[in-house]
Amino acid sequence: MFWNEEMETLRGKKLEDLQTKRLKWTLSQAEKIPFYQERLRAAGISNSDIQKRDDITRLPFTKKTDLREGYPFGFFAVPKRDIVRIHTTSGTTGKPTVVGYTRNDLATWAELIARNLTMVGLTADDTFQNAVNYGLFTGGLGFHYGAELMGMTVVPSATGNTRRQIEMIQDFGVNAIHCTPGYALHITEVAEEMGITLGSLRIGCFGAEAWSETMRHELETRLAIDAYDSYGMSEMYGPGVAFECTEKHGLHIWEDCYLPEIIDPATGETLGPGEKGELVITSLSKEAMPMIRYRTGDITMFIEDECPCGRGLRIARIMGRSDDMLVIRGINVFPSQIEHVLLGIAEVGDQFMVYIDRVHHLDEMTIDVEMNRSAFSGELGDLVGLQKQIQQKLQEALTLRTTVRLVEPGSLPRFEGKAKRVIDRRGDL
Ligand SMILES: [Zn+2]
Repeated sequence: MFWNEEMETLRGKKLEDLQTKRLKWTLSQAEKIPFYQERLRAAGISNSDIQKRDDITRLPFTKKTDLREGYPFGFFAVPKRDIVRIHTTSGTTGKPTVVGYTRNDLATWAELIARNLTMVGLTADDTFQNAVNYGLFTGGLGFHYGAELMGMTVVPSATGNTRRQIEMIQDFGVNAIHCTPGYALHITEVAEEMGITLGSLRIGCFGAEAWSETMRHELETRLAIDAYDSYGMSEMYGPGVAFECTEKHGLHIWEDCYLPEIIDPATGETLGPGEKGELVITSLSKEAMPMIRYRTGDITMFIEDECPCGRGLRIARIMGRSDDMLVIRGINVFPSQIEHVLLGIAEVGDQFMVYIDRVHHLDEMTIDVEMNRSAFSGELGDLVGLQKQIQQKLQEALTLRTTVRLVEPGSLPRFEGKAKRVIDRRGDL
């Protein structure tokens, strides 16, 4: 069950040589970008100093906050005419991060998705329902083209209208579904209410938000499927960076395209197998937008023992974040984005509190926003219009529906030192 057996099983010296060669190529791409020219000059290092794979630790890190300096196209290493598609992902404040793809990038990305789906036993004989957001979110088109490349029958159902999704699975004999784990559980419940058994469904590919072994068990039992964990991020094409094989014990990371490291997020020091830390990835095949030692913010560790499937290095299921990024219904949200929106509204004070709950397996975000004293008349009932306006502005900025509650000045807790503005009540998924 391989899509590209040679690359998927490449190990040892051969892999190291390929990675070194591609690392040097990636650096030559990066050297076309003013941001990296400056960073490399400041670090006193150039392409010729990189002779072996382990020299990577001499290169500077790239952080999510660095990417906003390049908005919109400042991280492109190729002329704009060679960019054939863009996607965006949440930035830490007002502007999103724009990612660009050349034709070769799109072909590589589709192949990585095809490797993942082939690895778990899907073939051209299967029908694949892609129940995630299409558009600027990379999960939609990313999986779509990979599944098409394999020759599967793709149903681009996107999200929403759960009853219709269930009818499609039933009527089209869908064998595999891709969605967030939370949405899969929602589909399960609605199908149970409708008295429908989704007998054709065999495989679930779930990603874009954190989930647990308990949730896997729940989904596998109630849907009678095998459920697999999918990992990626828009800065690295999108989904397809790593994926579980049928062993369901860690996610194989495609080392011909990504050079991963695990670091101590506080010190930047490199950690070894079995040590928990932040995943750092250097892209090895990205033409339009090379990424050097990109700090993903995701906490995991390497699993180095041999996998019976014959593929290489695995990372453990993502255990959390090293920064304050939240994942709400598959969408990345930074509290700083919320703050940015609120700062632009005159009637609002400088205190807010975010609550995240799971209602019917779907994430709900509620934001208590303190009014400012001069705008507060004493009657919260007058403020429905303002509340709606804030919800609208947040929806535009976060691409996410939230519930805003206006509260009296001085009613939210004050913090000495770093404010704790988020209370996540989702518990163990
Ligand atoms: Zn494996």
